[in-house]
Amino acid sequence: MAHQILKALKDKGFRLTKVRKLIIEIFLSNSAAPISAVELKARLMAADADANKTTVYRELDFLSEQGIVVEVNAGDGKKRYELNRDGHHHHILCLRCSAVECVTVDNCTLQEELKRVDSKSFKITGHSLNFFGLCEECQ
Ligand SMILES: [Zn+2]
Ligand SMILES: [Zn+2]
Ligand SMILES: [Zn+2]
Repeated sequence: MAHQILKALKDKGFRLTKVRKLIIEIFLSNSAAPISAVELKARLMAADADANKTTVYRELDFLSEQGIVVEVNAGDGKKRYELNRDGHHHHILCLRCSAVECVTVDNCTLQEELKRVDSKSFKITGHSLNFFGLCEECQ
């Protein structure tokens, strides 16, 4: 998968810097939990990459523009990012430590239900649903 993403970027003529490759690997190895820019920076530092805040934000902007990562709203106002993988899903937030996990839904029917409550002034094109509770460590 990392290979496919990198190849697609290369084919479009973008440079594959060490930091860019690492970020994609971090997202891939972390595919069930969105991470914030701060967490991403910490992971890059742990991997010995020379990444300052500006680099991290610039890379996140770039990867978002390319449709590789998407912003996740987990309901606590913090910005987190995850790979733009196939498959609609929801998120769960730990109220104590702010950990966020992806929740896979086999058959989300919300979109269908929303059609029935479609407002006159809005055309609903999507939804996000957040659960909250306590993670394993915080229980
Ligand atoms: Zn927790
Ligand atoms: Zn997710
Ligand atoms: Zn849904």
